[in-house]
Amino acid sequence: MTEPACRACRSRAGDLVLDLGDQPPCDYFPAAGDPGPDPEYPLQMWLCAACGLAQLVADPTVPEEPRGAEPAALVAQAEDAVRRVAAAGLAGPGQRVAEYGSPHGGSWLPLLTGRGLTAVGDGEPADVVLDCFGLMHAADQAAAMADRAARVAPGGVLLLQFHSLEAIITGGQWNALRHGHYAYYSTTALTPMLARAGYSLRTAWRFGLYGGTVLLAARRDADGTGRAGAAVNDLLASEAHAGVTDPAVLRRLGDSALARARGLHGWLAAENAAGRRVLGYGAASRAVALLRRSGVDRHLLPGVADASPGKQGLRMPGTDIPVISPGQLVQEKPPAVVLFLSDLLPEVRQSYPEIEAAGGRWVDADTLACPAAGSGGLQQDT
Ligand SMILES: [Zn+2]
Repeated sequence: MTEPACRACRSRAGDLVLDLGDQPPCDYFPAAGDPGPDPEYPLQMWLCAACGLAQLVADPTVPEEPRGAEPAALVAQAEDAVRRVAAAGLAGPGQRVAEYGSPHGGSWLPLLTGRGLTAVGDGEPADVVLDCFGLMHAADQAAAMADRAARVAPGGVLLLQFHSLEAIITGGQWNALRHGHYAYYSTTALTPMLARAGYSLRTAWRFGLYGGTVLLAARRDADGTGRAGAAVNDLLASEAHAGVTDPAVLRRLGDSALARARGLHGWLAAENAAGRRVLGYGAASRAVALLRRSGVDRHLLPGVADASPGKQGLRMPGTDIPVISPGQLVQEKPPAVVLFLSDLLPEVRQSYPEIEAAGGRWVDADTLACPAAGSGGLQQDT
């Protein structure tokens, strides 16, 4: 492999820290009747030794994910975040706002315009430039950061929200790595990226979403004085403690991948052997990676339910498991439903009370880790 160049600082010094082998593009859901085989591409994470940005090595795929239903947890976090930003005096009536959103949805614009801000058109300057899970979708991180930084009007603020690398490490969230997401941020790595664009951090907030989401507020250095507040320093200290720039720490994600894949396969095989027909919920990218890694097929998991109409009638990439509707899930009265997105637990329990009323239970896939189990059917390390 040729050493990649950092997507942010262009350095070629770094380490391959996670290699998931060849994986199907998690954005491409084939029709249920499509026998495959699906295309597969290497899925690897590289950590820049110069700036500390964790990133996707190569990505030959084109994003095609059917737009998902917006989880209630995401909506609630957006409301919480906008409330905190407004309370800090960083977004208020009369200001202009520009948003760089995620292709997967979750816009904050209605919340901000509801508070009296005005959304500007493409390329126009704004007092508040917000990036909410958008930046990670840019292959050229330096260019994308420069673009956002240039949109901020004099005296304005740049807000960046991301799923934190610290949370990925501490939660063993190896399957956050996916094609189409080019960067996995820490505040530590964003600090020099912002500095190159002429910005420095002012404050930060942490949220429980995805096991750990961070919102940063940065201002242009040329606008005058200002210093990072205690929240920024606490975040940097916490990240240093977690080892966000240590390749040895990042490499432990590979152990987590193996343990969770074994755990899921072992648990499903045991349920199957006991004659229980278990189903899944949440046809997200994280489920694609976990199912593929664990070598689970429709014999062990006959369906994964998802609320997005765009995914129903399709199948999970890299497996023969069909995506079913929540209505079908409920009708089947499964004794257990394995949930691939922990954040959805309160929401699914509330939306589908029939599952538990019929004696079924929800099982968080992330709790099934099993380092010592056998590896029958398991996709081996590559
Ligand atoms: Zn770098």
